[in-house]
Amino acid sequence: MTDEVRNVIIIGSGPAGYTAGLYSARALLEPLMFAGYMSGGQLMLTSDIENFPGYPEGIGGPEMMIQLREQAERFGLEVQDKNVEKVDFSEKPFKIWVEGELFLSKSVIICTGAESIWLGAEGEEEQKGRGISTCATCDGAFFREQEVLVIGGGDSAMEEATFLTRFASKVTVLHRRDVFRASKVMYERAANNPKIEIRPFRSVKSWLSDDSGLSGAILEDPRDGSTEEISCTGAFIAIGHKPITTFLGGQIETDNSGYILPKTHTMTSVSGVFAAGDVVDTRYRQAITAAGMGCQAAIDAEKWLEEQH
Ligand SMILES: Cc1cc2nc3c(=O)[nH]c(=O)nc-3n(C[C@H](O)[C@H](O)[C@H](O)COP(=O)(O)OP(=O)(O)OC[C@H]3O[C@@H](n4cnc5c(N)ncnc54)[C@H](O)[C@@H]3O)c2cc1C
Repeated sequence: MTDEVRNVIIIGSGPAGYTAGLYSARALLEPLMFAGYMSGGQLMLTSDIENFPGYPEGIGGPEMMIQLREQAERFGLEVQDKNVEKVDFSEKPFKIWVEGELFLSKSVIICTGAESIWLGAEGEEEQKGRGISTCATCDGAFFREQEVLVIGGGDSAMEEATFLTRFASKVTVLHRRDVFRASKVMYERAANNPKIEIRPFRSVKSWLSDDSGLSGAILEDPRDGSTEEISCTGAFIAIGHKPITTFLGGQIETDNSGYILPKTHTMTSVSGVFAAGDVVDTRYRQAITAAGMGCQAAIDAEKWLEEQH
Protein backbone atom coordinates (compact mmCIF):
# COMPACT_ATOMS: atom_id res chain seq x y z
CA MET A 1 0.00 0.00 0.00
CA THR A 2 1.29 3.42 -0.94
CA ASP A 3 0.01 6.77 0.38
CA GLU A 4 1.13 8.56 -2.75
CA VAL A 5 -1.76 9.79 -4.91
CA ARG A 6 -0.81 10.00 -8.60
CA ASN A 7 -2.35 12.57 -10.95
CA VAL A 8 -3.02 10.02 -13.64
CA ILE A 9 -2.65 6.28 -14.03
CA ILE A 10 -2.80 4.83 -17.54
CA ILE A 11 -3.85 1.19 -17.93
CA GLY A 12 -2.56 -0.45 -21.11
CA SER A 13 0.43 0.14 -23.38
CA GLY A 14 -0.82 0.07 -26.97
CA PRO A 15 -0.82 3.15 -29.25
CA ALA A 16 -3.63 4.70 -27.15
CA GLY A 17 -1.78 4.21 -23.86
CA TYR A 18 1.61 5.48 -25.05
CA THR A 19 0.07 8.54 -26.71
CA ALA A 20 -1.90 9.30 -23.52
CA GLY A 21 1.40 8.83 -21.64
CA LEU A 22 3.29 11.17 -23.96
CA TYR A 23 0.71 13.96 -23.69
CA SER A 24 0.21 13.69 -19.94
CA ALA A 25 3.98 13.52 -19.34
CA ARG A 26 4.49 16.65 -21.45
CA ALA A 27 1.72 18.30 -19.40
CA LEU A 28 3.91 17.57 -16.32
CA LEU A 29 1.32 15.26 -14.74
CA GLU A 30 4.01 12.62 -13.98
CA PRO A 31 1.87 9.76 -15.29
CA LEU A 32 2.27 6.13 -14.25
CA MET A 33 1.44 3.37 -16.74
CA PHE A 34 0.70 -0.29 -16.12
CA ALA A 35 1.67 -1.90 -19.43
CA GLY A 36 -0.19 -5.15 -18.83
CA TYR A 37 0.21 -8.76 -19.91
CA MET A 38 1.05 -7.71 -23.48
CA SER A 39 3.43 -4.81 -23.21
CA GLY A 40 3.12 -2.84 -26.48
CA GLY A 41 -0.35 -4.17 -27.27
CA GLN A 42 -1.74 -5.83 -30.38
CA LEU A 43 0.92 -4.45 -32.74
CA MET A 44 3.48 -6.72 -31.07
CA LEU A 45 1.76 -9.49 -33.08
CA THR A 46 2.35 -8.03 -36.52
CA SER A 47 5.42 -7.70 -38.69
CA ASP A 48 4.69 -4.80 -41.06
CA ILE A 49 2.77 -1.58 -40.49
CA GLU A 50 2.38 0.42 -43.67
CA ASN A 51 -0.47 2.75 -42.70
CA PHE A 52 0.87 4.67 -39.70
CA PRO A 53 1.85 8.16 -40.92
CA GLY A 54 5.52 9.04 -40.65
CA TYR A 55 7.03 5.73 -41.79
CA PRO A 56 7.40 5.94 -45.60
CA GLU A 57 9.08 2.52 -45.77
CA GLY A 58 6.71 0.92 -43.24
CA ILE A 59 7.87 -0.35 -39.85
CA GLY A 60 7.69 -3.56 -37.81
CA GLY A 61 4.95 -3.56 -35.14
CA PRO A 62 7.25 -4.31 -32.16
CA GLU A 63 9.80 -1.75 -33.40
CA MET A 64 7.13 0.96 -33.60
CA MET A 65 5.86 0.19 -30.11
CA ILE A 66 9.41 0.38 -28.68
CA GLN A 67 9.76 3.82 -30.30
CA LEU A 68 6.42 5.02 -28.89
CA ARG A 69 7.48 3.87 -25.44
CA GLU A 70 10.92 5.54 -25.67
CA GLN A 71 9.34 8.80 -26.83
CA ALA A 72 6.88 8.88 -23.90
CA GLU A 73 9.54 7.82 -21.36
CA ARG A 74 11.82 10.63 -22.58
CA PHE A 75 9.25 13.10 -21.22
CA GLY A 76 8.86 11.26 -17.91
CA LEU A 77 6.24 8.54 -18.37
CA GLU A 78 6.88 5.86 -15.73
CA VAL A 79 6.06 2.38 -17.02
CA GLN A 80 5.61 -0.78 -14.96
CA ASP A 81 5.20 -4.00 -16.95
CA LYS A 82 2.47 -5.27 -14.69
CA ASN A 83 -1.20 -6.20 -14.97
CA VAL A 84 -4.04 -4.38 -13.22
CA GLU A 85 -6.16 -6.93 -11.36
CA LYS A 86 -9.05 -4.86 -10.12
CA VAL A 87 -10.15 -1.29 -9.49
CA ASP A 88 -12.40 0.60 -7.08
CA PHE A 89 -13.86 3.72 -8.68
CA SER A 90 -16.59 4.19 -6.03
CA GLU A 91 -14.66 7.00 -4.26
CA LYS A 92 -11.73 9.35 -4.88
CA PRO A 93 -8.83 8.88 -5.05
CA PHE A 94 -9.42 5.86 -7.26
CA LYS A 95 -7.93 2.56 -6.12
CA ILE A 96 -6.05 0.26 -8.48
CA TRP A 97 -4.67 -3.13 -7.46
CA VAL A 98 -1.63 -4.31 -9.38
CA GLU A 99 -0.21 -7.75 -8.69
CA GLY A 100 -1.21 -7.49 -5.04
CA GLU A 101 -0.11 -3.87 -4.54
CA LEU A 102 -2.53 -0.92 -4.14
CA PHE A 103 -2.06 2.34 -6.09
CA LEU A 104 -4.07 5.57 -5.75
CA SER A 105 -4.82 8.10 -8.44
CA LYS A 106 -6.89 11.23 -9.01
CA SER A 107 -7.67 10.22 -12.60
CA VAL A 108 -7.40 7.08 -14.71
CA ILE A 109 -7.12 6.50 -18.47
CA ILE A 110 -8.21 3.03 -19.60
CA CYS A 111 -6.47 1.87 -22.80
CA THR A 112 -6.80 -1.91 -22.53
CA GLY A 113 -7.78 -2.56 -26.16
CA ALA A 114 -9.76 -5.43 -27.56
CA GLU A 115 -8.72 -8.95 -28.44
CA SER A 116 -9.63 -10.48 -31.77
CA ILE A 117 -11.46 -13.74 -31.35
CA TRP A 118 -9.48 -16.51 -33.08
CA LEU A 119 -10.76 -19.88 -34.24
CA GLY A 120 -8.25 -21.92 -32.27
CA ALA A 121 -7.91 -24.43 -35.15
CA GLU A 122 -4.86 -26.69 -35.31
CA GLY A 123 -1.81 -24.89 -36.75
CA GLU A 124 -3.27 -21.41 -36.18
CA GLU A 125 -0.79 -20.21 -33.57
CA GLU A 126 2.20 -20.77 -35.89
CA GLN A 127 0.62 -18.85 -38.80
CA LYS A 128 -0.68 -15.82 -36.86
CA GLY A 129 0.77 -12.73 -38.54
CA ARG A 130 2.39 -14.92 -41.23
CA GLY A 131 -0.68 -15.70 -43.33
CA ILE A 132 -3.56 -15.64 -40.89
CA SER A 133 -4.78 -12.22 -39.81
CA THR A 134 -7.78 -10.65 -38.10
CA CYS A 135 -7.52 -7.30 -39.88
CA ALA A 136 -8.09 -6.95 -43.65
CA THR A 137 -7.57 -3.17 -43.57
CA CYS A 138 -4.16 -3.80 -42.02
CA ASP A 139 -2.92 -6.83 -43.95
CA GLY A 140 -5.04 -7.13 -47.13
CA ALA A 141 -2.48 -5.41 -49.36
CA PHE A 142 0.06 -8.18 -48.66
CA PHE A 143 -2.10 -10.65 -50.64
CA ARG A 144 -2.10 -9.18 -54.15
CA GLU A 145 -3.25 -11.70 -56.79
CA GLN A 146 -3.47 -14.45 -54.18
CA GLU A 147 -6.35 -16.67 -53.03
CA VAL A 148 -7.59 -15.90 -49.53
CA LEU A 149 -10.24 -17.13 -47.12
CA VAL A 150 -12.51 -15.07 -44.88
CA ILE A 151 -14.11 -16.85 -41.96
CA GLY A 152 -17.36 -15.51 -40.51
CA GLY A 153 -20.96 -14.75 -41.32
CA GLY A 154 -21.52 -11.23 -40.01
CA ASP A 155 -21.19 -7.74 -41.46
CA SER A 156 -17.45 -7.66 -40.68
CA ALA A 157 -16.83 -10.83 -42.66
CA MET A 158 -18.76 -9.47 -45.65
CA GLU A 159 -17.03 -6.10 -45.43
CA GLU A 160 -13.57 -7.69 -45.16
CA ALA A 161 -14.30 -10.03 -48.08
CA THR A 162 -15.47 -7.16 -50.30
CA PHE A 163 -12.45 -5.05 -49.31
CA LEU A 164 -10.06 -7.93 -50.05
CA THR A 165 -11.27 -8.23 -53.67
CA ARG A 166 -9.20 -5.08 -54.36
CA PHE A 167 -6.08 -7.17 -53.93
CA ALA A 168 -6.82 -10.89 -53.95
CA SER A 169 -7.56 -12.90 -57.11
CA LYS A 170 -10.22 -14.90 -55.26
CA VAL A 171 -11.91 -14.59 -51.84
CA THR A 172 -13.77 -17.55 -50.34
CA VAL A 173 -16.04 -16.81 -47.39
CA LEU A 174 -16.57 -19.77 -45.05
CA HIS A 175 -19.40 -19.89 -42.54
CA ARG A 176 -20.33 -22.82 -40.31
CA ARG A 177 -24.08 -22.36 -40.85
CA ASP A 178 -26.32 -21.30 -43.74
CA VAL A 179 -27.87 -18.47 -41.70
CA PHE A 180 -25.84 -15.26 -41.91
CA ARG A 181 -25.84 -12.54 -39.24
CA ALA A 182 -24.77 -10.02 -41.90
CA SER A 183 -27.32 -7.46 -43.03
CA LYS A 184 -29.00 -8.27 -46.33
CA VAL A 185 -27.30 -5.39 -48.13
CA MET A 186 -23.80 -6.38 -46.96
CA TYR A 187 -24.41 -10.03 -47.75
CA GLU A 188 -25.66 -9.27 -51.24
CA ARG A 189 -22.83 -6.90 -52.00
CA ALA A 190 -20.40 -9.73 -51.22
CA ALA A 191 -22.46 -12.47 -52.88
CA ASN A 192 -22.76 -10.48 -56.13
CA ASN A 193 -19.03 -9.79 -56.35
CA PRO A 194 -17.59 -12.09 -59.05
CA LYS A 195 -14.35 -12.54 -57.07
CA ILE A 196 -16.18 -13.80 -53.96
CA GLU A 197 -17.50 -17.30 -53.35
CA ILE A 198 -19.61 -17.83 -50.22
CA ARG A 199 -19.59 -21.36 -48.83
CA PRO A 200 -21.99 -22.17 -45.97
CA PHE A 201 -21.57 -25.23 -43.71
CA ARG A 202 -17.79 -25.06 -43.74
CA SER A 203 -15.56 -24.64 -40.71
CA VAL A 204 -11.77 -24.78 -40.51
CA LYS A 205 -10.54 -28.00 -38.89
CA SER A 206 -6.84 -27.28 -39.32
CA TRP A 207 -4.45 -24.98 -41.20
CA LEU A 208 -1.84 -26.25 -43.66
CA SER A 209 1.54 -24.66 -44.27
CA ASP A 210 4.73 -25.10 -46.27
CA ASP A 211 8.13 -23.38 -46.20
CA SER A 212 6.69 -20.10 -47.48
CA GLY A 213 3.85 -19.94 -44.92
CA LEU A 214 0.14 -20.67 -45.08
CA SER A 215 -0.78 -23.01 -47.96
CA GLY A 216 -4.36 -24.07 -47.23
CA ALA A 217 -6.83 -25.52 -44.78
CA ILE A 218 -8.77 -28.69 -44.06
CA LEU A 219 -12.45 -27.78 -44.00
CA GLU A 220 -15.18 -29.70 -42.23
CA ASP A 221 -18.90 -29.85 -42.93
CA PRO A 222 -20.43 -29.65 -39.42
CA ARG A 223 -23.54 -31.55 -40.61
CA ASP A 224 -21.78 -34.85 -41.30
CA GLY A 225 -18.11 -34.31 -40.36
CA SER A 226 -16.91 -34.79 -43.95
CA THR A 227 -13.69 -32.98 -44.82
CA GLU A 228 -12.04 -31.40 -47.86
CA GLU A 229 -8.84 -29.49 -48.57
CA ILE A 230 -8.75 -25.93 -49.88
CA SER A 231 -5.65 -23.98 -50.90
CA CYS A 232 -5.00 -20.37 -49.87
CA THR A 233 -2.03 -18.21 -48.95
CA GLY A 234 -3.98 -15.83 -46.71
CA ALA A 235 -6.87 -16.12 -44.28
CA PHE A 236 -8.81 -13.47 -42.39
CA ILE A 237 -10.76 -14.44 -39.30
CA ALA A 238 -13.74 -12.13 -38.85
CA ILE A 239 -15.74 -13.68 -36.04
CA GLY A 240 -15.57 -10.74 -33.64
CA HIS A 241 -13.56 -8.85 -31.03
CA LYS A 242 -13.70 -8.89 -27.25
CA PRO A 243 -12.90 -5.64 -25.37
CA ILE A 244 -10.78 -6.11 -22.26
CA THR A 245 -13.02 -4.67 -19.56
CA THR A 246 -13.89 -7.52 -17.15
CA PHE A 247 -11.25 -6.33 -14.65
CA LEU A 248 -13.41 -3.17 -14.23
CA GLY A 249 -16.01 -5.27 -12.42
CA GLY A 250 -18.97 -3.50 -14.04
CA GLN A 251 -18.08 -0.11 -12.47
CA ILE A 252 -17.98 1.66 -15.85
CA GLU A 253 -20.91 1.76 -18.24
CA THR A 254 -20.36 -0.45 -21.30
CA ASP A 255 -22.48 -1.69 -24.20
CA ASN A 256 -23.74 -5.28 -24.27
CA SER A 257 -20.46 -6.53 -25.72
CA GLY A 258 -18.35 -4.85 -23.01
CA TYR A 259 -17.10 -1.83 -25.00
CA ILE A 260 -16.80 1.26 -22.78
CA LEU A 261 -19.38 3.93 -23.58
CA PRO A 262 -17.89 7.45 -23.50
CA LYS A 263 -20.07 10.09 -21.87
CA THR A 264 -18.45 13.51 -22.28
CA HIS A 265 -15.67 13.46 -24.91
CA THR A 266 -13.43 10.61 -23.66
CA MET A 267 -14.76 10.64 -20.08
CA THR A 268 -16.63 7.50 -19.05
CA SER A 269 -19.68 7.14 -16.80
CA VAL A 270 -17.34 7.75 -13.81
CA SER A 271 -16.13 11.34 -13.55
CA GLY A 272 -12.30 11.34 -13.68
CA VAL A 273 -12.05 8.02 -15.50
CA PHE A 274 -11.29 8.28 -19.23
CA ALA A 275 -11.01 5.65 -21.97
CA ALA A 276 -9.30 5.54 -25.36
CA GLY A 277 -8.50 3.19 -28.22
CA ASP A 278 -9.99 -0.15 -29.21
CA VAL A 279 -11.61 -0.58 -25.79
CA VAL A 280 -14.18 2.06 -26.82
CA ASP A 281 -14.01 1.62 -30.59
CA THR A 282 -16.37 -0.76 -32.37
CA ARG A 283 -15.74 0.81 -35.77
CA TYR A 284 -12.21 1.92 -36.75
CA ARG A 285 -9.80 -0.20 -34.65
CA GLN A 286 -6.59 1.21 -36.12
CA ALA A 287 -3.32 2.23 -34.49
CA ILE A 288 -3.69 5.82 -35.65
CA THR A 289 -7.25 6.17 -34.34
CA ALA A 290 -6.23 4.61 -31.02
CA ALA A 291 -3.29 7.03 -30.77
CA GLY A 292 -5.61 9.95 -31.59
CA MET A 293 -8.00 8.96 -28.84
CA GLY A 294 -5.10 8.54 -26.41
CA CYS A 295 -4.17 12.17 -27.10
CA GLN A 296 -7.78 13.27 -26.54
CA ALA A 297 -8.06 11.33 -23.27
CA ALA A 298 -4.83 12.88 -21.90
CA ILE A 299 -6.02 16.40 -22.76
CA ASP A 300 -9.45 15.65 -21.25
CA ALA A 301 -7.84 14.28 -18.07
CA GLU A 302 -5.56 17.33 -17.80
CA LYS A 303 -8.51 19.75 -18.16
CA TRP A 304 -10.60 17.73 -15.69
CA LEU A 305 -7.78 17.76 -13.11
CA GLU A 306 -7.45 21.53 -13.54
CA GLU A 307 -11.19 21.97 -12.96
CA GLN A 308 -10.96 20.07 -9.65
CA HIS A 309 -8.82 22.84 -8.08
C1 LIG B 1 -2.46 -8.91 -36.36
C2 LIG B 1 -2.84 -7.46 -36.28
C3 LIG B 1 -2.32 -6.58 -37.20
C4 LIG B 1 -2.67 -5.23 -37.14
N1 LIG B 1 -2.11 -4.38 -38.05
C5 LIG B 1 -2.42 -3.07 -38.01
C6 LIG B 1 -1.85 -2.16 -38.95
O1 LIG B 1 -1.09 -2.54 -39.83
N2 LIG B 1 -2.20 -0.84 -38.84
C7 LIG B 1 -3.07 -0.38 -37.89
O2 LIG B 1 -3.33 0.82 -37.84
N3 LIG B 1 -3.63 -1.22 -36.99
C8 LIG B 1 -3.33 -2.55 -37.03
N4 LIG B 1 -3.92 -3.42 -36.15
C9 LIG B 1 -4.88 -2.88 -35.19
C10 LIG B 1 -4.13 -2.20 -34.02
O3 LIG B 1 -3.21 -3.11 -33.49
C11 LIG B 1 -5.09 -1.75 -32.93
O4 LIG B 1 -6.10 -0.92 -33.47
C12 LIG B 1 -4.35 -0.97 -31.84
O5 LIG B 1 -3.28 -1.73 -31.33
C13 LIG B 1 -5.28 -0.57 -30.70
O6 LIG B 1 -4.53 0.10 -29.76
P1 LIG B 1 -4.95 0.24 -28.23
O7 LIG B 1 -3.93 1.10 -27.62
O8 LIG B 1 -6.38 0.63 -28.14
O9 LIG B 1 -4.90 -1.23 -27.62
P2 LIG B 1 -3.93 -2.48 -27.76
O10 LIG B 1 -2.87 -2.30 -28.77
O11 LIG B 1 -4.83 -3.65 -27.88
O12 LIG B 1 -3.23 -2.52 -26.33
C14 LIG B 1 -3.93 -2.89 -25.19
C15 LIG B 1 -2.99 -2.87 -24.01
O13 LIG B 1 -3.73 -3.07 -22.81
C16 LIG B 1 -2.95 -3.87 -21.94
N5 LIG B 1 -3.85 -4.47 -20.95
C17 LIG B 1 -4.94 -5.25 -21.15
N6 LIG B 1 -5.47 -5.61 -19.96
C18 LIG B 1 -4.70 -5.02 -19.00
C19 LIG B 1 -4.73 -5.00 -17.56
N7 LIG B 1 -5.65 -5.67 -16.87
N8 LIG B 1 -3.77 -4.28 -16.92
C20 LIG B 1 -2.85 -3.57 -17.61
N9 LIG B 1 -2.78 -3.54 -18.95
C21 LIG B 1 -3.69 -4.28 -19.63
C22 LIG B 1 -2.25 -4.86 -22.86
O14 LIG B 1 -1.10 -5.37 -22.23
C23 LIG B 1 -1.91 -3.94 -24.03
O15 LIG B 1 -0.69 -3.31 -23.78
C24 LIG B 1 -3.57 -4.75 -36.15
C25 LIG B 1 -4.10 -5.65 -35.22
C26 LIG B 1 -3.74 -6.98 -35.26
C27 LIG B 1 -4.29 -7.94 -34.24
